[in-house]
Amino acid sequence: MNKVLIIGAGGVGNVVAHKCAMVPEVFGEITLASRTVSKCEAIAADVKQRTGRGIATAAVDADNVAETAALIRRTGAKLVINVALPYQDLSIMDACLEAGADYLDTANYEPKDVAKFEYSWQWAYQERFREAGRSALLGSGFDPGVTNVFTAWALKHHFDEIHTLDIIDVNGGDHGHAFATNFNPEINIREVTAECRHWEDGAFVGTPPMSEHRGFTCPEGVGTYEIYRMYHEELESLVKHIPTIRRAQFWMSFSPNYLKHLEVLQNVGMTRIDEVEYQGQKIIPLQFLKAVLPNPGDLGERTKGRTCIGNVITGLKDGKPKAVYVYNICDHEKCFEEVGSQAISYTTGVPAMIGAKQMLEGAWRKEGVWNMEQHDPDPFMADLNVHGLPWTCVELTPEQAAAFQVA
Ligand code: NDP
Repeated sequence: MNKVLIIGAGGVGNVVAHKCAMVPEVFGEITLASRTVSKCEAIAADVKQRTGRGIATAAVDADNVAETAALIRRTGAKLVINVALPYQDLSIMDACLEAGADYLDTANYEPKDVAKFEYSWQWAYQERFREAGRSALLGSGFDPGVTNVFTAWALKHHFDEIHTLDIIDVNGGDHGHAFATNFNPEINIREVTAECRHWEDGAFVGTPPMSEHRGFTCPEGVGTYEIYRMYHEELESLVKHIPTIRRAQFWMSFSPNYLKHLEVLQNVGMTRIDEVEYQGQKIIPLQFLKAVLPNPGDLGERTKGRTCIGNVITGLKDGKPKAVYVYNICDHEKCFEEVGSQAISYTTGVPAMIGAKQMLEGAWRKEGVWNMEQHDPDPFMADLNVHGLPWTCVELTPEQAAAFQVA
């Protein structure tokens, strides 16, 4: 019987716990741990009510390697699903090596004091995981995650060579607050305010944050939104592992209202991540801001609308130009009905469960440290259809692909 330990009881942890509990033949015994054990207990009670399954709970400070390793040993976990924050990635990887467990996460490591997104720190664990006979899967959320698998699947079934990749992430949901982020505000705002980088002819090119944008009409009536080019971590692994890619870009939709609030918060210094002195105490403005913003985990109840995340991919097949759009549409209200979370947490938590399932079933269990596109995309794509994130692939003309005309 497979035993798993989920670390992190936020919006994403809630979805992972529910979805693992719904697949008892793979996830035999589940423990959910976080800094605040009461959050784990509340999720466990909901899992029990919705699925009839009991899951264990525990308190852990995942910054502490020895404490985390002791918990892994105590639970007998074969695999640790890390859905805490990117700051904990390395300490949880260390704990997995110490206690002898496999590892999975949904976001790459970030140091707390600088908004720097790169895989180098985690790729550096390759030899240690291989030598220990352990497997690590990096970035098993939606983006990164499903977007990497969409690319690998398109390469396997539609292209001989991929030349351009545009990942387009639209959240057409409305939560009714003046300003809120859909996942951890600190991580979200660090990402959005960072310099934009995209891949062009063999190198990353830097441009000011949010400086490039265009309109995008989603398929299936999700709507028309303004999408902004920004850096996203899957670009780094995808251009490394699929070297024929000449240009890779990531786009995300933001409403004028979100951008207006963000601009003001930036202008007044509330998004700073360095320490400031306040009444004899040192505080980090962005962390304080997180404390006063709505909790993303509580947005589910009031969020309406759909997300639409997909890849426009162009390249060559049998010597001829070809283009496809692979996408998923997810409904906020349906997610809430199923697991009590909005679609951003749902679209992250479901792929985390599916990645864990591939590892536990053996299809994706290779010793070492791996990104999603390095595994066979087929079993993962099949499971997306079964477990709540069905996808569609449409062929585009080169002109439609260039204009992002997918509707
Ligand atoms: P939340 O802030 O809602 O939850 C984070 C959880 O981690 C909280 O329960 C928190 O505990 C716990 N935690 C934080 N620090 C520690 C620690 N030192 N030890 C133990 N637990 C800790 O975040 P989300 O659920 O929104 O996001 C979770 C992860 O998913 C993030 O890494 C985020 O970047 C990633 N993500 C990935 C996406 C993708 O598509 N790939 C999309 C969205 C998110 P407590 O509440 O007790 O403080």
